[in-house]
Amino acid sequence: MAADIAVIGGGWSGMAAAWRLQRAGHMVSLYDEQDRLGGRSASVQLGDRMLTAGGKNIGRKYSAFRSFAAELGCTDWEFFGINSTRSDGGRDRTIDSTRKLSSLFHLLKDIPARDLGRGLRVVRAVRTRDENRFLGGPGLTAMAAKHGDPTLAEYFGPTLRKKLIRSLTVRMNGAEDDEVHLECFGTHLGMVMDTFEQLSSGFGELFEQFGKYVSFRGGTRVTDLEALRGQHDAVVVALPAHAAASLLDPAAQGLAEELRGVRYFPAAVILAEYDRPAFGARERAFVQPAGSPLSNIGAYGVSDRHIVRYTFSGRAHRAAERSDEELIELAEAQLGKQTGRVGARRIAMVVKRWEHAYCGYSRHHSARLARIDRAVNSLDKLELTGDYRRGASIEACFRAGYENADKLLRVL
Ligand SMILES: Cc1cc2nc3c(=O)[nH]c(=O)nc-3n(C[C@H](O)[C@H](O)[C@H](O)COP(=O)(O)OP(=O)(O)OC[C@H]3O[C@@H](n4cnc5c(N)ncnc54)[C@H](O)[C@@H]3O)c2cc1C
Repeated sequence: MAADIAVIGGGWSGMAAAWRLQRAGHMVSLYDEQDRLGGRSASVQLGDRMLTAGGKNIGRKYSAFRSFAAELGCTDWEFFGINSTRSDGGRDRTIDSTRKLSSLFHLLKDIPARDLGRGLRVVRAVRTRDENRFLGGPGLTAMAAKHGDPTLAEYFGPTLRKKLIRSLTVRMNGAEDDEVHLECFGTHLGMVMDTFEQLSSGFGELFEQFGKYVSFRGGTRVTDLEALRGQHDAVVVALPAHAAASLLDPAAQGLAEELRGVRYFPAAVILAEYDRPAFGARERAFVQPAGSPLSNIGAYGVSDRHIVRYTFSGRAHRAAERSDEELIELAEAQLGKQTGRVGARRIAMVVKRWEHAYCGYSRHHSARLARIDRAVNSLDKLELTGDYRRGASIEACFRAGYENADKLLRVL
């Protein structure tokens, strides 16, 4: 018999859970406090276009997400790449996703043998076993257990950190390398070792098609979980850990405490449109040095090089409050310096800030997840999913959403 199920959270984790449950023949209501789908990938308006300020790039290895998009008829993939240019001893070096080996050679040439060995072991684990691209992967969990799950700053020496690790952690989840633990590093590497694309028409069509199958109750903030459980046969909480904790407290205080132990890092993104391309054909992004509140300057797409995405994250961003005007002034000065293209006129801009932009996980994260699972198992017909389960990438959110929906399906 079809059950009546509520899913709380209309981001990718909740959409994945809702999709799985709806496909299994159940009636799903998807609640979100925002009036639109997408959560941290929701559309924002820039001029006359709807664009994505948050998560938008989709790896070729995002198999769960891609089959979901294909089922909804969205297959217009456009190559994006992750070509990043960074300043190395006064010379700009580009990590080119189509020429990974030569890019890597320049990056790795002065790295001490111990760090090379450690780095290669992690890379091999991620390359050879798909699960190691996600939280709880056996290779990374075993490596971390052996060393007491150190931070990457404790595990790797300064040269490798400066050349590679920090720019990777800041780019992938707004964290410094002394804020990311070894056990979770597979999630970062899994992303950087992928090749990125985006839907050329954006996520709008995908959200519209999805809305034809699942009843979306946008603009509804859930504040009383027990009341909602009384109205539905089962509930899936698909929220970031801090938001799930607020809903579960005080009824499940221990579980809420575990969820509060999961770290998040803030970010701000400015999308700015100019009257001419700000990027050349080869560069796609300029990684910014440590110490700058600006972490990345990227083109919106290969055919949207006149739209620039400025990302502010990392410790220097967190250190001081800055107004939108201060942020754009700083960003445009840096763009002019790095590209040498000055004089482009800005036509439109939109600023988006998240206090909890990226999930940064926790030390011995898999042990925390096991404790969370044990606590959830004692709550009848309730499941918890989200970016803290498998990782912050859109694919990881999808996989977690499916896994937790499957767990609920077994009970139902
Ligand atoms: C700037 C940025 C760039 C990124 N880039 C990429 C990328 O290129 N590729 C990639 O793979 N990943 C990327 N990510 C990561 C990815 O976008 C996120 O990890 C992912 O979108 C999180 O999805 P989620 O469903 O778990 O959470 P969310 O998207 O946060 O969804 C949770 C939803 O719950 C709602 N909600 C909260 N509380 C309540 C309540 N009490 N009642 C009702 N609703 C509630 C919120 O409104 C929200 O819509 C990026 C993230 C950011 C911030």
